[in-house]
Amino acid sequence: MPRPIFDTLATADELRPYLDMQAYARDTSRTKTRHRIEFKPLPHRLARRAIEERAPCARCGTLMHPIRARKPPPPALLPDAINGTVGGIYYSPTCPQHTSLRCSRGSAAANDYTLMQAEYATQDQEAT
Ligand SMILES: [Zn+2]
Repeated sequence: MPRPIFDTLATADELRPYLDMQAYARDTSRTKTRHRIEFKPLPHRLARRAIEERAPCARCGTLMHPIRARKPPPPALLPDAINGTVGGIYYSPTCPQHTSLRCSRGSAAANDYTLMQAEYATQDQEAT
C-alpha cells in the first residue's frame, strides 16, 4: 500500500491534527485540479520545523519542501514572532510550480492527493 509523501515527514504526527481536508461529493473544478492541501492555523514553532523539512518529489524524486508557506510569508513566520499560531501553510507532494509544472500537475501529484484523501479526509456534510 503506497503512502503519501506526507507520512514520511518527521513532523507528520504533529501536523496531522491541523490537516484541513474535506472530501467533496464531486470535483467542482472544470480545469485540471491543482492539488493543494491546507492546514488550520498551527503553532508557530511547529510550522517553522515543518517548513524546513525535505522529502523527495512524488514524481521526479528531487528533494523539495512539501510543507510551504504562501508568499509573502505570513507575519507570524517572521523572526520576531515566537508564540501564537500561523496560517497560510499548505502541503504539496511535488516540486513547486516555478521549478516544474510537469511535477505539480502530473499524475504522481494526483495519486498522492488521492492517498491523502483516503487517509485523512473528513466527510463533507454539505455535499449535495
Ligand atoms: Zn519533481
